[in-house]
Amino acid sequence: MGIVVGGLLYHEAIIDPKIFEQVQAEMVRRKNNNGRYSGVGTFASKIKCGECGNWYGSKVWHSNDKYKGRIFQCNHKYKGDKVCMTPHLTENEVKEIFVKAVNQYLTEKSVLLTNADEICRIAGDTASLEARCDTLTAEMNASAGYGNWTHSSPSSIRDCGATRSSI
Ligand SMILES: [Zn+2]
Repeated sequence: MGIVVGGLLYHEAIIDPKIFEQVQAEMVRRKNNNGRYSGVGTFASKIKCGECGNWYGSKVWHSNDKYKGRIFQCNHKYKGDKVCMTPHLTENEVKEIFVKAVNQYLTEKSVLLTNADEICRIAGDTASLEARCDTLTAEMNASAGYGNWTHSSPSSIRDCGATRSSI
């Protein structure tokens, strides 16, 4: 089982089906708007050169032979003092990287959510604090000679903030 992105089948995809549906809906919308679908606008100015920090742009490559295709490369590649050594990417490579990035994002997001749930569970578990509070209250009451203070005692005493002067 896998999903198809840009005509390519990805076997290890874990993209949320809802997000995939949204992407497909967006692709249909663009197709309807332009009369044709092109991935060019989707990725242009969304890839940054790791060397000079400029955006990648798209270019038609080998336009007269069977290798004709669109590639993405640093717009600034030949404009600086030295040529950027970052690689050019084919449209399919970009799509593949995009899918990996989305999957990585979703994985990290689910890990973060799992951690957040765990933190909430631990932080919300006040049983040991309440037990300590009960022990201290009992000790305080015993040393003050008040005998048996119970949970029916005024709430100001049951809150650990109670001091002897407030009793
Ligand atoms: Zn560059």
